[in-house]
Amino acid sequence: MVSCCLSGGLRLLRGVNRMLSRRYSLDVSGDLLRSQAFINGRWVSAPDSFAVLDPATGAELCSVSDCSVPQAQEAVTAAYTAFQTWKTHTAKERSVLLRKWFDLVNHHKEDLAKIITAECGKPMKESIGEIAYSASFLEWFSEEARRVYGDIVSPAAKDRKILLIKQPVGVASVITPWNFPSAMITRKVGAALAAGCTVVVKPAEDTPLSALALAELAAQAGIPPGVFNVVPCSREKAPAVGEVLCTDPLVAKISFTGSTATGKALLKHAAGTVKKVSMELGGHAPFIVFDSADVDKAVAGAMASKFRNSGQTCVCSNRFLVQSGIHDVFLEKLGKAMDAELRVGHGFEPTTTQGPLINTRAAEKVERQVTDAVSQGAVLVKGGKRLEGSFMQPTLLSNVSADMLCMQEETFGPLIPILKFNTEKEALAIANASQVGLAGYFYSQDLSQIWRVAEQLEVGMVGVNEGLISTAEAPFGGVKQSGLGREGSKYGVDEYLELKYVCMGGLTL
Ligand code: NAD
Repeated sequence: MVSCCLSGGLRLLRGVNRMLSRRYSLDVSGDLLRSQAFINGRWVSAPDSFAVLDPATGAELCSVSDCSVPQAQEAVTAAYTAFQTWKTHTAKERSVLLRKWFDLVNHHKEDLAKIITAECGKPMKESIGEIAYSASFLEWFSEEARRVYGDIVSPAAKDRKILLIKQPVGVASVITPWNFPSAMITRKVGAALAAGCTVVVKPAEDTPLSALALAELAAQAGIPPGVFNVVPCSREKAPAVGEVLCTDPLVAKISFTGSTATGKALLKHAAGTVKKVSMELGGHAPFIVFDSADVDKAVAGAMASKFRNSGQTCVCSNRFLVQSGIHDVFLEKLGKAMDAELRVGHGFEPTTTQGPLINTRAAEKVERQVTDAVSQGAVLVKGGKRLEGSFMQPTLLSNVSADMLCMQEETFGPLIPILKFNTEKEALAIANASQVGLAGYFYSQDLSQIWRVAEQLEVGMVGVNEGLISTAEAPFGGVKQSGLGREGSKYGVDEYLELKYVCMGGLTL
């Protein structure tokens, strides 16, 4: 048995131990399992390579080309050359190619999902969900490509006409994290290609295989050489490769998803040549349960929002604030749901709902937050222990206060800390006392309260009686230090477009 019930702590440990001694093979079509960089439509080796590991077992999955400055420069040059013709394609031509790419991603969804589970650790069911989500951006932007409109504006002078046209910005550098190895790429690249930009993608060092599989399918779809390039590299080489991608004068745009600290470093790079930037950075989402909430729906929302990808999403609920009148029943029902629904194990095991964290450092961070909270008076209701490797028990803490570490810094793991509050004003003050503001969630059946709280939460996205809110149709992004710009939706393409004003004068009308 490699996965088992959360409440059986010993059984779970034995299961994980046995699992670590077993090797899970990555059995996918050879064309999709690529280990070289993809530059100008060709598979290119770098002089060095780095290992991609299964985060559940630590076993090496594959050795991938470790790109450095020369490969990054080559990719930027290829993207710049390709831009000169890609921008002249009609919107319909670009739309058709994006649609073909979408069809191919859908066709290969099982294999692409296996790659995600192998390199990122999430359970297969979630990986299949990520591929559907990833493909949805290619579909959405294949449609949006044809709806990039300009304006004709009434002029102030009789002999003039004012036209506003939208044009692609140029080469976009795309730097992505490991927690959604496929979807974070298509959310950016779909919009960029629809707008007429070309891209160089630097995927996270933990998860380059999903990016390279997307490159293979882009080529099969007929996306021209140089339009979509991928330069994988190790963590050691990321600063040097990142510097090329964020400072080269041929690059016009940077789109980054990852930690706030890295985002700030890339913003400094971007300043030197004043590049257009999109930054999707860290979050610290509040999840507020008011007395009027439907408690069963709130528990279901908490489970969905917290435990997806073992708590490793930027929109995961982090700070649970529960009003005093509903607190005890919510805590009890949440504990029961965790026992009933969560199974820790390898992502390839069909019963697994909680895979490993991405590495042991991530598990140590969660453990540190638990130790800090308990030392300051929090009550450990469930879990709390690190398991073998990078596995962490799903954990529930009550009696938490706002100054504990888990309420101050993003967790990125399967920990629910519960703070009891009395008034709406108090909950809003705690929720908004953060430097970041990506997502926020609350449960209430009081219509006036729903409007008040939705408007006052200092975040870019609000879930009202809903724990899962990400979709291609809606704008994704944050306020404060959670970033700049929006992805997906009808606004996503604007991040890759310039608005040009054309004044036609001297007209005799
Ligand atoms: P990270 O910032 O460490 O890494 C993200 C990417 O940046 C990786 O590709 C990495 O190699 C690269 N990178 C790191 N240092 C670099 C440098 N000096 N130059 C160039 N590239 C560099 O983040 P992570 O730990 O991989 O991801 C987790 C973080 O991402 C969390 O904080 C999470 O909230 C955030 N995130 C945000 C969103 C969002 O849409 N807002 C989505 C997913 C994750």
